[in-house]
Formats: sequence, structure tokens, C-alpha cells
Amino acid sequence: MPPATSFRMSQVRQSDTEPELIVKKVLRELDLRFQSHVGSLPGKPDMVIPDYRTAIRVHGCFWHGHACRRGRLPATNRSYWREKVKRNQLRDARTEAQLRKLGWRVLTIWECRAKALTTQMLLRRLNKLKQSRIALISSRLRLPEAR
Ligand SMILES: [Zn+2]
Repeated sequence: MPPATSFRMSQVRQSDTEPELIVKKVLRELDLRFQSHVGSLPGKPDMVIPDYRTAIRVHGCFWHGHACRRGRLPATNRSYWREKVKRNQLRDARTEAQLRKLGWRVLTIWECRAKALTTQMLLRRLNKLKQSRIALISSRLRLPEAR
């Protein structure tokens, strides 16, 4: 592996936990009860808010193919990385569908956006999600109301 790529990968892996910490901090500020890395759900969501029946996925821009600067593919072995990222994206879409089918709402927070995340922003997104089609499916399942 070229040094530039391995450097980038180590950077990606390292910063991957940082956005999660930020999101958790915001969840705590909102006094929302959450669980981390829930292995019993498809895709093992990074966080789950049981009261909102919402799964939160904090996505690293590189590995999950975000259309931002961090999501840019390395100059070398492009097709290799493109395939790898595409596989991740397919898996992401599959697990999201599975989660929805189980009545969970799915919120994806990109690594590059996590830093600027505020309690108000997260609340707005959670509320918006509540009004979405997924929420309709959820309410048909008579899920407990959020606090
Ligand atoms: Zn990004």
C-alpha cells in the first residue's frame, strides 16, 4: 500500500471515533437515553435512542462514500477503493431497509458534519424524522411515544 494511502486510512480510522463522541455528547446534553453499538439490530447501529425508536449511524466520509472532500478517493488504486466504498454503501442501504422494516427510524450523521452538530440541529432532525414515512410505519406498529 502506498504510504499516502495508509496514512489516509489511519487518519480515517482515528477520526472515526471522534464524531461518535461528539454525537454522544449532544445526545447527553439533550438528556436522551441511548445505547451504543447495538449488536442485536441490523448493521449494529452506532447509537440507538429507544424512546424515539431511532437508530443513529455516524458515517465516516471516506468509507461510506460521502460527496465531500473527505470522501474523495485516493489517487492510486482508485477502482479498488471505489469498489470497496460501493460495497459499503450497498450494505448501508440494506441495513437501513432492514431497520425500517423493523420499525426503526434511521438517522445518518456524516463525520464531516458531526463537528458542527448542536442540540438544536439534532432535535430538528429527530423531529423531522418523526414526521416521515418511516414514522407512519412506526406508529402503525404502535410504538411507544417519545418523551
Ligand atoms: Zn463528508
